[in-house]
Parts: sequence; structure tokens; C-alpha cells
Amino acid sequence: MAPKHQAPRGTRDLLPADTALWRWAEERARGVLDRYGYGELRTPMFEDYELFARTAGESSDVVQKEMYRFQDLGERDLALRPEFTAGVMRAYLEHGLGGRARVHRLWSTGPVFRYGRPQKGRYRQFSQLNCELIGSPAPGADVEIVTLFVDLYEAWGFADLSVVINSVGQPATRRAYGERLRALFAPMRDKLSADSQARLETNPLRVLDTKDEGDLALIAAIRDEGRMPHLIDELDADDRAHWDAVLAGLDAAGIRYEIDHGLVRGLDYYTRTAFEVHDRSLGAQSALGGGGRYDGLIEMLGGSPTPGVGFAIGLDRALLVLEQRGAKADATTAVCLVAMDGTRAAATKLARDLRREFVVEIDVEGRGFGAQMKAAGKSGARFLVILGEEEWGRGEIALKDSKTGTQRTLAPGALADALRAGMRDEGDRS
Ligand code: AMP
Repeated sequence: MAPKHQAPRGTRDLLPADTALWRWAEERARGVLDRYGYGELRTPMFEDYELFARTAGESSDVVQKEMYRFQDLGERDLALRPEFTAGVMRAYLEHGLGGRARVHRLWSTGPVFRYGRPQKGRYRQFSQLNCELIGSPAPGADVEIVTLFVDLYEAWGFADLSVVINSVGQPATRRAYGERLRALFAPMRDKLSADSQARLETNPLRVLDTKDEGDLALIAAIRDEGRMPHLIDELDADDRAHWDAVLAGLDAAGIRYEIDHGLVRGLDYYTRTAFEVHDRSLGAQSALGGGGRYDGLIEMLGGSPTPGVGFAIGLDRALLVLEQRGAKADATTAVCLVAMDGTRAAATKLARDLRREFVVEIDVEGRGFGAQMKAAGKSGARFLVILGEEEWGRGEIALKDSKTGTQRTLAPGALADALRAGMRDEGDRS
């Protein structure tokens, strides 16, 4: 019989076998973020709809087609967050962080929501890891953010990453560049997809973001003919100097990158640096993460002009790639307690004591000795602690090391030390 309810379309359950890998990845990431001196910020999962509409731009796909917008019982116009940055900036302003220190390094993680068409690597609820460095206009800030971005992936075992990077200049530079694109595409307007034709009117830069195969072929042909103008050739002197300094900083830090002239950000608050990483094994949804500078954003939200640079990493996709590569989190059970009828009560207490320090499994169903031994063997536990009735009466328990197959008896009081020593030898304490 089919179950009555299923998880809503585009959402998924992560079962313990999945969450083990997620937790491993999250812990690795936290280590990197701590060492870079970033502090964790937790913001609500929903905000005023207006906040997202204003920051993402009314014409963006996110606002027009993808927002989970709802009214609560108090008739407030709210939306589930489709990304982190808007909420982070709202919190930054609400708590007057700008007045407390010049530079803030913040990270956040959790679910975000977009009503898109679900497919592999694309969900309606997914998780992001978001970092922002707020308050510094210096190229060094961009370099730190890109370096942190790469180091997070490296901590997960991505060794072969190449970041694609571009500069999107200032809004005025982009407008002028957009006009050039409009003129360039005008003669072939009819050959473009309906989406791109609409973008040609509203925001011509976004034609370069197209996923349509026909559009992509057209753009590639223009490139091959050497007719595609490059945004970085149109930068003003300050933006150019910033761009050169960012690339020099990345070189110095040993970060591999490729310049991607097609990497553009349509939204007005983006300035200068834009970057992304992709993994082709994911097919159409290949973007693993991306970010850039958004010097105009805080002002747009009513704050005084404050520069910022940051990124969002899509955790679901990063983990998909890791799973495809065979990554697995280790089994964690370290100790299995096996008791007899006369020692069950004692075993329960011993399990509780050991759990202050070790991962311990114990039978809760009153199963017989043989069944417990079998289950212990299957559990993958490194150590079996056996509480035989006679031995317990003599003040002894048996400790079996399933790795070496050896067994010895010892006093219950000596058990914790013996486990510690055994795990230390192997370096696999869990
Ligand atoms: P964006 O804010 O669109 O630049 O997204 C940042 C990252 O989040 C992307 O590079 C993806 O890895 C991930 N992402 C975006 N949309 C989805 C989605 N619908 N499902 C899963 N991951 C997503």
C-alpha cells in the first residue's frame, strides 16, 4: 500500500546514512570558518517579502517565479528566504553592527527555498553555506573571500577546483555594456529564445546567463568571430586597478582561476568581482557556488554606503558530487555492550556512564546473549564489552577488540582507560 503522504515535490528527507556525511561536511566547514575568524549569524527562515523583492530586484526570476510568498494570520506579507544575503544585511543594519566595528566577517547556514522545477541537484528546499565580509572596499577583502571559498571546498576533498572570475564594474559600466550587447543581439533577435528576447529588453546582460542551447550556440559563434565585447575592457580606472589587485592577490595565495567574460550579474547592487565554481558531473545544474562584491546593497536597504563581498555555496550539490565520488562518513558505533539476564541492570548503568565519552550501543529488547552477540558483530563496533553473570559476580568484565580479535578480562573501573588507550592507538576514537 502506498503511503498517504509524501514529502512535498522538490523537497527530500535526509536519512541517517545521508546526514552522517552532511554532518561531517558541516564540521569540516566550521573548522575552516573558525580558523578564518568568521562568526556565525543565524537569521530567521522567513522575512518581509519586501526585503527580498527589493534586494533581488522585481524583475529577477527569484522574485517573479520562485519565491515562497505567504500571508501569516496577522496578514503580514512574508516570504521564505530564497537566499541569505538580504537577511544578513537586514540584521547587520538592525543591530547597528556597522557602528561597532569597521569590518565584520559573518557566516550562516541552513535551508533556503525556491519554487523552481525540481531535477537532479535542484530542489525547492536546499541548503546554503553563506559568508560575507562587510565593511572593506579593499581588493584584499575579495582575495580573502575567494580564498575562503576555495578552502571550504578543499576541506571537503575537492582538489581540482578552478574558480571562474570576472569583474562586473559599476552599474553605469554595465548599463553601457548592456547597450552594446543589445545592439549586438538586435539583428538576430528572432533567433533568440523567448526568455532571452525578454531579457534583451529588460536586462541585456542576463542574455549571457541563458541556459538555452540555441542561445548558447549563437553566443559561442559570436565569441568565435571575436565580436563579443568584454566587460573587463570597459572598466573605469579604479575598477581596473581593483581587478588587477584581486588577480595578483589570488596568484600570491596560490588560487587557481580562469577569467570568464560571460560571468555577469544582472542585479544593480553588484560591483566589481564576481566568481563561481562549477562541477560538470552535475550536468545542467553545475553551479556549486558563487559570489561577488555588492557595494551598493546596504545603501539600497537604507544604510550608509557600506562595501561588502561574499558568497553562497550550495551544500546539496557539493554533497552530491562527494557521494558520486564515493565519499562515506565512517560508522560511529565504538562500543557494544552485551549483557545476560543477571547483568542487564548493571549494563544499563555502565552504558550511561560510558556515553559521557564513547559512542555506545546496547540492547533494549531483552534479547538473549547469542542474539546480542550477533547484533554486536553486525554493528561495526570496534569494541565489545561483555557482562557475563559469573564474571560480573567476580568483579570482572570481558573486553573484546573486534579489530584484532583479542579478548581480555578487566575490572569495570579500568574499562574507560582501556577503551581510551585502544582508540588512541588506532587514532580512530569516535
Ligand atoms: P545562487 O544564490 O543562485 O548563486 O545560488 C548559490 C548556490 O546555491 C548555487 O551555486 C547552487 O549550488 C545552489 N543552488 C541554487 N539553487 C538551487 C536549487 N534550487 N537546488 C539546489 N541547490 C541550489
